[in-house]
Amino acid sequence: KSGFIGIIGRPNVGKSTLLNAILGEKIAITTDKPQTTRNSIRGIYTKRNGDDDDCQMIFIDTPGIHKPRNKLGSIMTDMALNTFKEVDVVLFLVDDELSAGPGDKYIVELLKNIETPVFLIINKIDKLDPEKYRRIYEEYNELGVFDEIIGASALSGKNVDALLAKLKSRL
Ligand code: GDP
Ligand code: MG
Repeated sequence: KSGFIGIIGRPNVGKSTLLNAILGEKIAITTDKPQTTRNSIRGIYTKRNGDDDDCQMIFIDTPGIHKPRNKLGSIMTDMALNTFKEVDVVLFLVDDELSAGPGDKYIVELLKNIETPVFLIINKIDKLDPEKYRRIYEEYNELGVFDEIIGASALSGKNVDALLAKLKSRL
């Protein structure tokens, strides 16, 4: 099995950290400053034992996209949209409620118009209290846009294996 996975979400939500957790090495650059990842940095996860479990996933870390305010912004958004259409699964990372700000709403509108399966990853569960997690979950679940909703911590690695297993089942 093999396939392409696109990672998308607001700046600082943990996309690069998740990619690092999956790949187990420092490939993407993580920082507190938004938009360090200027290009799609691809990482390849390979599991090769010679059995049915073997798989390869090629990850594409898209730069943070936001409502375009100028020509460059709209070119970057178009690039991100094309990426969504070309991958097998899109991972959309969030760490807050949809109502918290305009950034995620814009991405959700883009995701409504693509055929590719989208997994919602509620990241940073290590610092979300259960009530907050439940509110985030409910708000996104109501939209009916997501094929899976998974709580995870890219930083601690919690649920990253479960995510990989769900991804594998879509390839
Ligand atoms: P990106 O802009 O989406 O690529 O975000 P980064 O991966 O660069 O992460 C931004 C910040 O969030 C960094 O300081 C990370 O250490 C932190 N971060 C990422 N994932 C988690 C997580 O699961 N839990 C916590 N507590 N912090 C995280
Ligand atoms: Mg990044």
